[in-house]
Amino acid sequence: MSTRFISKQLSRSGYDFIDEDYFGELLSKTRVDRHRFREVIAKSLSKEPLSVEETAVLLQADEPEYCEELFAAARRLKEAVYGNRVVLFAPLYIGSECTNDCVYCGFRRSNPAARRHTLSPIEIRAEVEALLDRGHKRLILVFGEHPLYSPEFIADCVRRVYACKRPRGEIRRVNINAAPLDHEGFRTVKAAGIGTYQIFQETYHHETYARCHPRHTRKGDYLWRLDAVARAIEAGADDVGIGSLFGLYDWRFEVLGLVAHSLHLQKHYSVGPHTISFPRLRPASGVQSDEAYRVSDAEFKRLVAILRLAVPYTGLILTAREPAPLRRELLGFGVSQIDAGSRIEIGGYSRAADTQVLENEQFELGDLRSLDEVIRELITDGYIPSFCTACYRLGRTGEQFMEFAIPGFIRRFCTPNALTTLMEYLADYASWETYQRGKELIARELEKLPEGRRKQELISRLKRIETSEERDLFF
Ligand code: SAM
Ligand code: SF4
Repeated sequence: MSTRFISKQLSRSGYDFIDEDYFGELLSKTRVDRHRFREVIAKSLSKEPLSVEETAVLLQADEPEYCEELFAAARRLKEAVYGNRVVLFAPLYIGSECTNDCVYCGFRRSNPAARRHTLSPIEIRAEVEALLDRGHKRLILVFGEHPLYSPEFIADCVRRVYACKRPRGEIRRVNINAAPLDHEGFRTVKAAGIGTYQIFQETYHHETYARCHPRHTRKGDYLWRLDAVARAIEAGADDVGIGSLFGLYDWRFEVLGLVAHSLHLQKHYSVGPHTISFPRLRPASGVQSDEAYRVSDAEFKRLVAILRLAVPYTGLILTAREPAPLRRELLGFGVSQIDAGSRIEIGGYSRAADTQVLENEQFELGDLRSLDEVIRELITDGYIPSFCTACYRLGRTGEQFMEFAIPGFIRRFCTPNALTTLMEYLADYASWETYQRGKELIARELEKLPEGRRKQELISRLKRIETSEERDLFF
């Protein structure tokens, strides 16, 4: 347990930039006409981030004819910016101890039914080995907020994950989702080699925030949490991820909050968030469901499409909280990362069971399919499942994140790396059917690439992966 003094020093951009009156005005007074709507869509399609006011135009355009145009534009932008890759990861829950009392969460301290456990080093190894044996290469470690989970503890967990080796591979990128730290805490976890630091504001609406997160708890401090990713950036984090928990307050307000947060980071640090997450509330142990702000599937689809258009260069993460058919549909609107084969019960990978016990987990999942099933579906739908970690490992992150800055980057780097990591999966872990379909997809993708030395090199690497023990051949 850490006894280190925790500084409450905010970042240099540490002020409350969520202007509720302005958001309220935009959501009540914005009138949409076809001309303005098309102007905003055109700006987004030229890959420029939208302002809060422009995002409000899309939010207010809720008639069916606008929705069709909105979805079509989101599809086009996703195709133009990301191509057809979908990055895959898995969450690894390290511990369910928590001193907070978030009203929606099964881990909250006032939930007597929650079974509390923190993985031991041996258990962490067993979990990571189980994940590796299924083919995972990218993890996000998830922690409750508790003195046990100090920056040193988190850093130690990250190092342990990287240290696990199996004959066919190792985890190549470890992200974390953890409570807000101070600058020194962030430096400690950064030194362990984390990829993205991710944290969700849950709700940007102050009164709702106060209702859901009692003031006497650590999480009760709205500004400390709002400022967390800025402190992480100042402490040297390469990538940060933000998010909001949908279902606590008006979803349109939360979208404006996410866009304002993203613009705030861009303004102060010349780099927006690497990813945005938009979890929807799920049933959790001992939690009474409150339907007042429930986001319907139809609203959720609009929400994803609007986010895609508002922040063209930010990755959008859709988790296994959502059911498989909806995930499949939403991929087309701009989601760029999904988790697959996820288990959120502490120790749930090494004790594989397909039933969910709410008392053992934070909330219930909607998609329990295996990694192989998800990969097969992606391939069938024409996506390239990718486990690529090249940019992060070559320092192509944050401000220098080249993916979008260099013309042709996706064709030269992202697609080849997606294909080599897919080939690794096919050669080492896939079922026969997935293997067959994956090989066909790779052949089709190769046909699309221009002839030349680079393509010949890619073909040679794919062959080496398929026919030898060589792995991790990234561009
Ligand atoms: N304890 C840390 C925190 O609160 O930031 C770490 C992460 S928590 C384990 C991950 C996220 O799960 C939370 O930020 C919240 O958005 C989400 N979550 C909590 N309860 C949920 C529920 N009932 N349904 C869906 N998502 C939930
Ligand atoms: Fe703790 Fe996070 Fe759950 Fe809140 S959401 S009770 S902080 S684990």
